[in-house]
Amino acid sequence: MSGPRHLRVAVVGSGPAGFYTADALLKSEDPPVAVDVLDRLPTPWGLVRLGVAPDHENIKAVSRAFERTAARPGFRFFGNVDVGSAVTPAELLERYDAVVYTIGAQTDRRLGVPGEDLPGSWPATAFVAWYNGHPDYQELPFDLSHGRAVVVGNGNVAIDCARMLALTAEELAPTDTVDAAERAIVGSGIREIVMLGRRGPVQAAFTPPELQELGELAGADVHVDPHDLELDAASAEALEHDRERARRNVDLLREFAARPAKGLPRRIVLRFLVSPVAILGEERVEAIEVVHNELVEQDGRLVARPTDRRETLPCGIVLRSVGYQGVELPGLPFDAGESIVPNDGGRVRGVERTYAAGWIKRGPSGVIGTNKKDAVETVDALLADARAGLLKAPDDGDLEALLRDRDVPFVEYAGWQAIDAAERAGGEPLGRPRVKLTAWSDLLDTGRGVQSRS
Ligand code: NAP
Repeated sequence: MSGPRHLRVAVVGSGPAGFYTADALLKSEDPPVAVDVLDRLPTPWGLVRLGVAPDHENIKAVSRAFERTAARPGFRFFGNVDVGSAVTPAELLERYDAVVYTIGAQTDRRLGVPGEDLPGSWPATAFVAWYNGHPDYQELPFDLSHGRAVVVGNGNVAIDCARMLALTAEELAPTDTVDAAERAIVGSGIREIVMLGRRGPVQAAFTPPELQELGELAGADVHVDPHDLELDAASAEALEHDRERARRNVDLLREFAARPAKGLPRRIVLRFLVSPVAILGEERVEAIEVVHNELVEQDGRLVARPTDRRETLPCGIVLRSVGYQGVELPGLPFDAGESIVPNDGGRVRGVERTYAAGWIKRGPSGVIGTNKKDAVETVDALLADARAGLLKAPDDGDLEALLRDRDVPFVEYAGWQAIDAAERAGGEPLGRPRVKLTAWSDLLDTGRGVQSRS
């Protein structure tokens, strides 16, 4: 690029935090910035492509804003580049003035109960990656032939899983759910999906629009036992002073509890104040044992305390949806307690010219838009450091040359556009937004060798 020397920044991870970071950097004039976004996958958008539920097309539409970012001068994409194996953090620092890690929270939190690893007990993250077409999760043998599924957790991912399990053929048809998942869901034997919240309705982490959707499904009744909505004094008090979310959630739950069942083929049961203590079965999941909880105050927070009442619920599949967790990247510091990269407002502690944004910076919370503010904070810190002369010029090597030297089969932005076009063309005759390419070989065959104009 001509004109003044651009600050050269690598952004590792191409989900929302990565793209909001790239966008804020590319908008900078003092100094002007060139940005390379790297991703382990050949495709960008992270959880917007592979996490957001396929029937939430309106949420996925945020990728249009990311496309505008990618069209800005100074932007390059390097897909299919695994930082850690194809190139190390130290090698990136030799080639860029600064590196921002936006690698998200790549694994699931564990329940820590016996039987957690029995066949049929899955992390929700794997189920989500499967129905969304993540190329690493297509061979997983989800067996949906049993009558009851249990989803552990009371967040929006748990709601996504419960809803996806309940969608009808007509509801799935206009989505980009992958074929195998669609067939399995439509043909499944599941008649009841039970969601287990360890605390009460006031403490549920899901948000009202997502809860409301459960009551609007074509093929599933939603069931709440009115007894589960009898609040203890502390929850009632919390609700009095509460922000929008808990109040609207509880109103919706009361409405669900009062509703007569329509007799639809499936039903979603929302339970509260129950925690799994064991997942039971000889060869595979046959049941889940839960303990009934009561709420007690601890350090200013209402937490679940087990009582001596237990119950066993027969089921054939358990989806554990108790939160995502960050994963250590060799060469970067890691706070194993919080599962984040330790940082001060986005400046990674103890490593020069290195920053973080998104879930790996603050933990797996908030909606997609939360990452914008978070990314801007990091970029403000980075640009302040650049203006203060703290980002000293590195060696002048280019990542592309290094990747070519190493025969790393990277995918450029134009390669992603070719994948995107092929997927949309596949969806068009079917009235779907796209039919995703889900095999590594198809993704690479379509995306490789298509060069972006520089
Ligand atoms: P989350 O919102 O943090 O919810 C995790 C849930 O798991 C909580 O109900 C938590 O209960 C429960 N939990 C944790 N440990 C548990 C245990 N040992 N036993 C039983 N329950 C346990 O996480 P998430 O659902 O994975 O979502 C991650 C983020 O993505 C959230 O910010 C979410 O809003 C967002 N998201 C948004 C959408 C959307 O907008 N449509 C969709 C998907 C995800 P406690 O509260 O008691 O800890």
